[in-house]
Amino acid sequence: MALNRQMVFQVTMPALLVSLAMLGTSLLGIRSINRLQADRDKIVSEHDRILRAAQNLETSLRRLRFHTFLYIMDMTTERWAKVEKDQNDFEESLALVKISETSPAEQQAIAAIESGYRGYHQELQQSTRSSIGPETAEYLKWADSHPIRLVVAPCEELLELNRQEMNDTAEESARLSGRARSQMILLAAVGAAGGLIGGFGVALGLNRSITRLSVRLGDVHSHLDQEVASLRLTSEGSDLHAMNRQVGTILERVRDVVGQLQRQEREGLRAEQLAAVGQLAASIAHEVRNPLTSIKLLVGAALNGHCGKGLSNTDLQVIHDEVGRLERKVQALLDFARPVEVGHQPEDVAGIVHRVVDLIQERLRQQRVTLNLRLPCEPVIADIDSDQFQSVLVNLLFNALDAMPGGGEINICLDNQMPDQFRLTVSDTGPGIDIRIADRLFTPFVSTKPTGTGLGLSLSRRIVQAHGGQLTLTDRAGPGASFTISLPTISGVSRHADAARGG
Ligand code: ADP
Repeated sequence: MALNRQMVFQVTMPALLVSLAMLGTSLLGIRSINRLQADRDKIVSEHDRILRAAQNLETSLRRLRFHTFLYIMDMTTERWAKVEKDQNDFEESLALVKISETSPAEQQAIAAIESGYRGYHQELQQSTRSSIGPETAEYLKWADSHPIRLVVAPCEELLELNRQEMNDTAEESARLSGRARSQMILLAAVGAAGGLIGGFGVALGLNRSITRLSVRLGDVHSHLDQEVASLRLTSEGSDLHAMNRQVGTILERVRDVVGQLQRQEREGLRAEQLAAVGQLAASIAHEVRNPLTSIKLLVGAALNGHCGKGLSNTDLQVIHDEVGRLERKVQALLDFARPVEVGHQPEDVAGIVHRVVDLIQERLRQQRVTLNLRLPCEPVIADIDSDQFQSVLVNLLFNALDAMPGGGEINICLDNQMPDQFRLTVSDTGPGIDIRIADRLFTPFVSTKPTGTGLGLSLSRRIVQAHGGQLTLTDRAGPGASFTISLPTISGVSRHADAARGG
């Protein structure tokens, strides 16, 4: 699933980036085209307004020329009213032109119109004051030098300028549209090329990943074949289907190998159990033969009449002791064979240590072994089976005493500094663990003692494990051996129990 997500990410990411880049550029292009369009529309509408105002100017000029001519010929109030109306129209059109956005050249033309219009007023006033006519030639002469001529020329210039501006705007707009078109074409080409390159890159990356996977599969395959023969994977084709088939084959092979390993493990365990049974049989034979030989010799001598009246008290004591030894051995075997069952009750570990020390006081004194106790002041409470725990401790202390027949030191240290567990260490100053058995110390029937069963440590470890703890041989700086029992304390136990209950 994670691989799929990564693959999808690898494939879509470059495509997504290219698409986003294209989208961004397209949006920018659209924005600049829109802005161009808006600018152009504004300019065109502005020019249109000026053009229409200029045309109105011209029209009102034409009417003004006609009506002033009629007024000069017939100076009546009605005719003057028409002249005034034309003048108002002209002034309104001029005011419209003035408030529009105009170029400097147009502003010059407007200024010329205004000054021409002022000249027109002066000349018209003079003409009305001087008497013209009644000869037709006089009227025609006035008409030829009509004062309106002062306004006509700048008005025509303004119209021409405006037409020119309109043409320029149209040309500029066409040029910009052309440029935008080529930009869009370029963008499309770049996008297509980017898509192609991106796709090629993704394909290349995927191909590389598949090849790497193929190489790694080949590696796994060769490993499997080294260990268990007969897996054939072809290297032909590095596409996903081929990979899938190869993974399927490897999975099957792994399943086979795991099955074989499990079978081998079961067989190994069985062989180990058989060896243990053999060892047990040898041990029983060894343990039973010595006392039986002694008993047989004594009973045989009594039967043959070598001992006179039969078995003496001493002989009977020897037989009794040997039978007792046999009984103990059998009991030890029975104890070992029985599954370890521990009861749980809150106990003070330091209290148990004190009880065990009392039990071995006599042997300590006889062997002149010094015991050093390091116990915390406060009680160390653990949920344990005190009898079983005591037997573990006794076994460790007896082993230490066995290792120091000529005296020495035993140290017992109870450490409760860890949050949820305590550690009880029993160490001695004896010769230490025999190198020949060091790696099999907790294996049943491993013993260096002539009368040892080799069951003490393995049984002790089983008891400690049944309490949820560990019994280990600990490294020791000086000479001697050191064993540590680690067990959960009550707080640790309840916390574990809570955790177990909580799920
Ligand atoms: P047993 O005491 O019957 O031999 P154990 O399982 O108790 O069986 O001990 C196994 C062996 O471990 C002993 O025979 C002895 O060689 C070794 N051993 C255990 N404790 C000590 C010790 N404190 N010092 C040296 N050797 C030890």
